[in-house]
Amino acid sequence: MLYRTVPKTGDTLSILGFGCMRLPLTRTHTIDEKRAIHQIRYAIDNGVNYLDTAPAYHLGRSEPLLGRALADGYREKVRIATKLPPWSVKTREDMDYILDGQLVKLKTGHIDYYLLHSLAKESWDTMLPLGVLEFLDYAKSSGKIINAGFSFHGDLVTFRKIVDAYDWEFCQIQYNFLDELNQAGTEGLSYAASKHLAVIVMEPLRGGSLAGLVPTQVEEIWKEAPVRRTPAEWGLRFVWDHPEVTVVLSGMNHESHIKENLKIAGEAEPGSLSPGEHALIARVRDTYTSLMQVGCTGCGYCMPCPAGVNIPECFALYNGASMFGNRREYAFHYLTRHGGITGDRSYAGLCRNCGKCEKICPQHLPIPAYLKEVSAKMEGRTMGIKVAVLKSGLGMLGCAGRFIRIFSPDKITRRDTNQEKN
Ligand code: SF4
Ligand code: SF4
Repeated sequence: MLYRTVPKTGDTLSILGFGCMRLPLTRTHTIDEKRAIHQIRYAIDNGVNYLDTAPAYHLGRSEPLLGRALADGYREKVRIATKLPPWSVKTREDMDYILDGQLVKLKTGHIDYYLLHSLAKESWDTMLPLGVLEFLDYAKSSGKIINAGFSFHGDLVTFRKIVDAYDWEFCQIQYNFLDELNQAGTEGLSYAASKHLAVIVMEPLRGGSLAGLVPTQVEEIWKEAPVRRTPAEWGLRFVWDHPEVTVVLSGMNHESHIKENLKIAGEAEPGSLSPGEHALIARVRDTYTSLMQVGCTGCGYCMPCPAGVNIPECFALYNGASMFGNRREYAFHYLTRHGGITGDRSYAGLCRNCGKCEKICPQHLPIPAYLKEVSAKMEGRTMGIKVAVLKSGLGMLGCAGRFIRIFSPDKITRRDTNQEKN
């Protein structure tokens, strides 16, 4: 296992982090606890010392599972990362209440790395006046958390603003060879590193999409490489090649994934990919891009939309659903992020066709026309019902259970993240 250092503290973290959002499941779609605990401990025994969870993962069951997995002396060997969900916070007191509950669930006296979960412009603007920065100061001074950070799914402008707003030790961004210009992107990665933040990378394989059933055109390009690697290995090595990256999270749920990732994490020094290998990755990226439905670069110039549509994110999810086979997972993210569940409503169907965005788009995209297409394919006629069911059922069993099982990323990614297929 290779390790990298957190710039502000000198803490040493394994370059591979264990993401506890896609743990192995039983036939009834509950966590296969025995297997999950065995996998987590195996990873720790082989050098992983960063474990990432959140209240939202596995409908609230990930944190307690991790607490149990870290019994028998394992807690002392690792850093725990978990998150404050902005969508569950209405008051400053809620923040204390949630953190105290997490300490109990995780059976620990402190959280090593504590993040504000999935920030974007709206959630940041909501959390600031509620006193979230004072809360972080208090949580650090009381010893309940050690390092403060945030995970991010917004635009680059907001990312820079948040980086500059607090003395963070770290941040967590979505980054892979398809997202160099999306969300924080390469520019955000460099910016965070220039401010001495450790950068934790999530979605290095786009939720398994880059490692699952890759399109034939992509497969042909990978075959040209002089060194045979799985698509998963190419994807991970691309991210680790960046010295600004501290930890790469992988939501591992199969023993073979863990073994493969551990092996790569023992070799992937920064800057180890050759120019020829970078050129190959660029061709794969271009091929994926050519399969996209909408040529949106995610620059965000068209934002804000007066009707509230999150234009780049709607296009990103639509493209994801068309490029990869796991349409259900993208549909789930579309509903939760844009249907008004984890923030304001921002789905494509809200477009009022005012034309403002079209005039600004540097790609000259017919945005309202594309949004109609997105609305038809991603929302359909039952969008309102799906959102209502998900909203009332999230975190609970009961009548929403069947719906959640249908759309659960855990169910889908178990198949899609199967790196063995490559
Ligand atoms: S055309 Fe639609 S998406 Fe574009 S700015 Fe107007 S309402 Fe927003
Ligand atoms: S301006 Fe155009 S390319 Fe940029 S995010 Fe908006 S739609 Fe995409």
